[in-house]
Amino acid sequence: MKVAVLSGGIGGARFVAGLRDALATGDQDEAQVTVVGNTADDIWLFGLRVCPDLDTVMYTLGGGIDPDRGWGRRDETWHAKEELAAYGVEPAWFGLGDRDLATHLVRTQMLGAGYPLSEITAALCARWDLGVTLIPMTDDRVETHVVIDDAGAPDGRRAVHFQEYWVRLHAPVAHAVVPVGADKASPGPGVLEAIADADVLLVSPSNPVVSVGTILAVPGIADAVRSTGAAVVGVSPIISGSPVRGMADRLLPAIGVDVSAAAVGVHYGARSHGGLIDGWLVDDSDSDALPELTDAGLLARAVPLYLSDRDTSRALAAEAVELAGSIRRNAG
Ligand code: GDP
Ligand code: CA
Repeated sequence: MKVAVLSGGIGGARFVAGLRDALATGDQDEAQVTVVGNTADDIWLFGLRVCPDLDTVMYTLGGGIDPDRGWGRRDETWHAKEELAAYGVEPAWFGLGDRDLATHLVRTQMLGAGYPLSEITAALCARWDLGVTLIPMTDDRVETHVVIDDAGAPDGRRAVHFQEYWVRLHAPVAHAVVPVGADKASPGPGVLEAIADADVLLVSPSNPVVSVGTILAVPGIADAVRSTGAAVVGVSPIISGSPVRGMADRLLPAIGVDVSAAAVGVHYGARSHGGLIDGWLVDDSDSDALPELTDAGLLARAVPLYLSDRDTSRALAAEAVELAGSIRRNAG
């Protein structure tokens, strides 16, 4: 069985870790998992190329993640960050740990030598035993910018890089979210093939705007999702009207989507009605949303969606694979 997953950072990584466990313990022999990672969070800092979502997936699956923060390396130290701050060098708001820096040094050195991000990602992942294949959505530079209020700007607004919006400013009101460069980007090597050849395509409970939305903004990817023979199942990142962790509720209004499990499911839409997914999982607490989702043409189920540990992540991923299986049986 071939499984492809669209993934952002923390939500995606935890879901994929559960998927790996579910497929290892289930009766699915030789499942192959390909994770298409969001790269629109990427940023140049201090001359280094940082890819937060790819690294979160790599460290989580590889066992190198800091389990409390959910990003960056475990057993991290911050000497380089302190030294940069002592020089008064900006930005001081981005957490670059000493261990993590090694990843960015390798990546930047390889970029300088002319390697594409996809090959660099494969080289970095070779160190870690992921048990899945992680590929960037594109080798091209795509960076999400967010339009926010700025009383000092001539028209009262300015655009900032997503990392500044999120990490430094803590997600103020967003008027627009623009994946700069996405329109001219091409899907990374293997992305369209992974989606087209999959038996099951999963949309992880990642941010619908700046994780999944940016992957789908790369020309060709959304069409591949619409036309794949795979059963396409998404998992709601919203539980009881809340993004659980993080600030996804700050960005959904910018694209005109309510902060609810039903609204995000309807936003992706049913493939039978020109949308992107066939099935949609909402939390038990959102079971009221099921009739609306069914009316929208989706096969929807309510299950526990809260990813608190390995067991809950595995159980959720197993539900997603199971729902995909029943969609395939219905279709066949
Ligand atoms: P990021 O790139 O690190 O922000 O991570 P993602 O985009 O992959 O995932 C972030 C999203 O995961 C958030 O917007 C939340 O809505 C969602 N999320 C966080 N924790 C949970 C959880 O326990 N269960 C579910 N279903 N979604 C979650
Ligand atoms: Ca992210």
